[in-house]
Amino acid sequence: MDTALERLKIRLNDAAYLSSAAALVGWEQQTYMPEGGAETRAGHLSTLARIEHEMFTSDETGRLLEDASKELNGAGYDNADASLIRITKRDYDLRTKIPASLVAEINHHNAIGHNVWAKARANNDYKSFAPVLKKTMELMVQVAEALGYTDHIYDALLDQYEPGMKAADVAAMFAGLKNDIVPLVAAIKERQDRVDDSVLHRAYDIHKQSAFTEMVAKEYGFDFNRGRQDKAVHPFCQSLSPDDVRITTRFDPNFVNTALFGTMHETGHALYEQGAGGGKLHLRMSTGTSLGVHESQSRLWENIVGRSRGFWKKYFPKLQETFPESLGDVDMETFYRAINKSYPSFIRVEADEVTYNLHIMVRFEMETALLTGQLTVDQAPEAWNAKYQEYLGITPDTDKIGILQDVHWSSGLVGYFPTYSIGNLLSAQLWEKATTDHPNIKTDVENAKFDTLLTWLRENVHQHGRNYLPKELIQRATGKPLSSDAYVRYLKTKYGEIYGF
Ligand code: ZN
Repeated sequence: MDTALERLKIRLNDAAYLSSAAALVGWEQQTYMPEGGAETRAGHLSTLARIEHEMFTSDETGRLLEDASKELNGAGYDNADASLIRITKRDYDLRTKIPASLVAEINHHNAIGHNVWAKARANNDYKSFAPVLKKTMELMVQVAEALGYTDHIYDALLDQYEPGMKAADVAAMFAGLKNDIVPLVAAIKERQDRVDDSVLHRAYDIHKQSAFTEMVAKEYGFDFNRGRQDKAVHPFCQSLSPDDVRITTRFDPNFVNTALFGTMHETGHALYEQGAGGGKLHLRMSTGTSLGVHESQSRLWENIVGRSRGFWKKYFPKLQETFPESLGDVDMETFYRAINKSYPSFIRVEADEVTYNLHIMVRFEMETALLTGQLTVDQAPEAWNAKYQEYLGITPDTDKIGILQDVHWSSGLVGYFPTYSIGNLLSAQLWEKATTDHPNIKTDVENAKFDTLLTWLRENVHQHGRNYLPKELIQRATGKPLSSDAYVRYLKTKYGEIYGF
């Protein structure tokens, strides 16, 4: 007779394969699907999601989890089976606590909300979006009540994306950033003329861009035998399993950054997925542990490595060779400064590494105020603009480039934004620890050697898959809780030098 643990593993495998098949369909939808296939593909996705949901949330899964956990009684916290049960129990609770009727209402609201938002943004008409935002917040309060929380209502929502992280952790993280970054942004703004990034906007043949970015992904360590790269309108990384990880990118013939840094970013996500679980964990656990930790990997390879002077020592001559007409008359220093130009802007997705987290801070403060009723939906645009003025020193003149810019609030994504900043901060904290353990990593990067860094990340982050919650993983990997210290040090050193203070 099979043990409950064995039966549980088989059941979870089936559910994981259904999710993986849905991921494949989702990838295809965004890469190769002919326009006419939209309805069929939506059917594939919703049917697969429904079957997976029924299987995963069934009473049978609940029973097997109980029985298997009894069988494992006494297994250590680090034991892979104990971790599988602990994390799966967490997922099971999360997914069974929200009533099916509420899930259906949210899905319905999101489908309508998205269209209303798209129209409102196009027409710069916040008034027509306000009822959607109001409803989103009401539904999110219901979700939080169903999931339960002890300290702050926001905790329940954040926990879905960053397990175990609390609103208080995020508030502390931003308090540290606010003190140091707001004055840094203001100081850089005063010295705008010190950096000119016009060379990035010359002509760059997209076929050559494609070959160059593929080379960088390969040299970073992306295994093309267990992954591939394709084009997509909105770049993303989709993992079907550690042995099949797909990244996508997009090309702009008149802006070299889009594909270059976009590919580095997605490669960072992909390296995490290809190493997730180290080939030793159940498929369910062989993926990243949270969105924030995931973003730390993409930001590390995109910004800390990819926008460093060291990296371009070897790669700038190669880039120049690839694009002699556009870069032949440019020296490395000009290029390095151009790719690190910082300036306060309105649009989050275009923000540089100095200003980016301030955009997230605005959204976090807005979300908590809207959820707790400190702020009404009608007051929201004014509050948004005031925060941009206070933190970034600029006021958007339309809601289109203000409160209406992000898709998240039309799609029920509340509690999601902080994961971006957690990722940015953590990227610097991991880099600091890795380069303390192996000081040669910096000279390795100058020599286009990335395996010391990748091996450190594999050992300290990737191989653990989902075994540890973000807070546990961060403490184990860096010996400290998450803080803004390393990130602030990194920014002050780098940008102090670029802008001369
Ligand atoms: Zn990312």
